[in-house]
Amino acid sequence: MPELPEVETICRALKKTLPGRKIERILVRDPRLRWPVDETRLRQLVLGQKVVTIDRRAKYLLIKFEQESTLVLHLGMSGRLLLLTGSPPFEKHDHVIFYLDDNTELRFRDTRRFGMVDAVAPGGLETYPRFINLGVEPLAPETRPEALFEKSRNWKKPIKNLLMDGNFMVGVGNIYASESLFYAGIHPKKASNKLSKKDWAKLFRSIQNVLNQAIEKGGTTLNDFVNSNGEAGYFQLLLAVYGREGEKCHRCKSVIERYVQVGRSTYFCPGCQSL
Ligand SMILES: [Zn+2]
Repeated sequence: MPELPEVETICRALKKTLPGRKIERILVRDPRLRWPVDETRLRQLVLGQKVVTIDRRAKYLLIKFEQESTLVLHLGMSGRLLLLTGSPPFEKHDHVIFYLDDNTELRFRDTRRFGMVDAVAPGGLETYPRFINLGVEPLAPETRPEALFEKSRNWKKPIKNLLMDGNFMVGVGNIYASESLFYAGIHPKKASNKLSKKDWAKLFRSIQNVLNQAIEKGGTTLNDFVNSNGEAGYFQLLLAVYGREGEKCHRCKSVIERYVQVGRSTYFCPGCQSL
């Protein structure tokens, strides 16, 4: 499943190519995605529109147009966005195609169909139902660790679970949560409301570093083919604890341990992350 760094990588790649392009034609080959694609709505809000910029909110890609409507895309479990030239033959799971004015096309391909393609009218993003309950963006400049400290006061659940709760913060999946907690020296089971302001400052910095490292690595595999199998970022990330059960910590030489927390493998160093 594509994680936040993969989506951010795609966002940055699209930012280099799409602005200034106009959507000349839309083809919906199959509307049956997680939510049915509303072709009429797409035509009304996206057809003939010129792209101004690309943004990201959580794992949603936002393609914004001159007339202030927005195309919202989510890759779900297996979605891919392909920027193609020369109209190669369709593959079975090419569901929606946006033809651009420079003879390229943006194809939404999704074998498992958990993805989403939707259009939002000007001014509609503020109240867009799928965005209302999203937590804070870990990479947004306006996100401050002090605010996370305040926000976490009401939560007794383990900090790792809070980090992975999309209503609290978006984009911190299982691997990123384990890695960030290691770098911050915080035990994954520590009660969220027991973290000090200093803990949050360290943790927030770690989260940003881990995500940014993954984005950097992800970016190197991209060219004109915008790929998102969700794995490249992981495998190229230097993992400090995740997947290293029984191996030695690079910092203190303690043996990395693993246990299951809310159904997910959690890795930590008992030497660096005491409870
Ligand atoms: Zn250690």
